[in-house]
Amino acid sequence: MAMIQLQPAFKDYLWGGTKLKENYNKQTDLDIVAESWELSVHKDGASVVADGPYKGLTFPEYLEKKGKSVLGTDCEKFDRFPILIKFIDALQPLSIQVHPDNEYALRVEGEYGKTEMWYILDCEPDSFLYFGVNKAISKEEFRERIENNTLLEVLKVVPVHKGDVFFIKAGTIHAIGAGIQICEIQQNSNTTYRVYDFGRVGKDGKPRELHIDKAIDVSNLTPIESDFKPCGPRIEDGEAETVMLATCEYFTTFETTVHGKVTIDVDESSFGSIIVVEGECVIRNEGDTIHAKKGDSIFVDAGSGAVEIEGNCQYIYTCE
Ligand SMILES: [Zn+2]
Repeated sequence: MAMIQLQPAFKDYLWGGTKLKENYNKQTDLDIVAESWELSVHKDGASVVADGPYKGLTFPEYLEKKGKSVLGTDCEKFDRFPILIKFIDALQPLSIQVHPDNEYALRVEGEYGKTEMWYILDCEPDSFLYFGVNKAISKEEFRERIENNTLLEVLKVVPVHKGDVFFIKAGTIHAIGAGIQICEIQQNSNTTYRVYDFGRVGKDGKPRELHIDKAIDVSNLTPIESDFKPCGPRIEDGEAETVMLATCEYFTTFETTVHGKVTIDVDESSFGSIIVVEGECVIRNEGDTIHAKKGDSIFVDAGSGAVEIEGNCQYIYTCE
């Protein structure tokens, strides 16, 4: 068996909602699901194999068992699994935060930095997010505005719509606003430096920790282009339409809409991840079949060959 369906690890952070349970078929006893980690080897929440001969193994255990070749030759440059894919449901805004790059994170935190991509699954009308600064500021002004609660005045507000894509390079100050559901494809890292939390308190009644000095070290304090468009043309291929959303050193991501049938060639160079974001489909590879629906996550070993997807659906495909 060269493809597996995964069950996520769940996070009930205080800003989360119930949409992942209601609209994305996520089953858990938690009241709130802020995040579901759909493709994760991370120690803070690994995905688990849902079915088949490897059922019950954590995703890192599955990779250990099958050997490094299932990641593909393009992953040989990494000493660990390079990405993490999650769903996020922000009922309330997330904290204003920033992530370090690889060099800083490996030196200071002992893990990868974090460049991430957001695909807007759905959102309330008039939703927005914060993306970088709206004018150049100095490190001194940054610190001052964190201390006197005026940081929001210098952050760039960007409206969002279903299907929008944002690429957040390490060092970009950002926050997901209220009423937004996201599929996030990111480097395999959980290092976040929180700089402002809207005066909220955590479950223990105390304000959550801020990481101001580290945030000042790593933040890009000049405005950057936030009008990020999918980086490839739309390619029609019979019954499917595909567009490349983003590509970087760590991942390449496509959005495909199928009405009928499409075949992906998963060759030796990389694993494939299929995240179904609308509709239902049947996925076939060498005699194996998975019935998948909105919210499901499927991992395909490198070298699996032709993977056929049939149905009426939309999915996000990620490879190295
Ligand atoms: Zn982030």
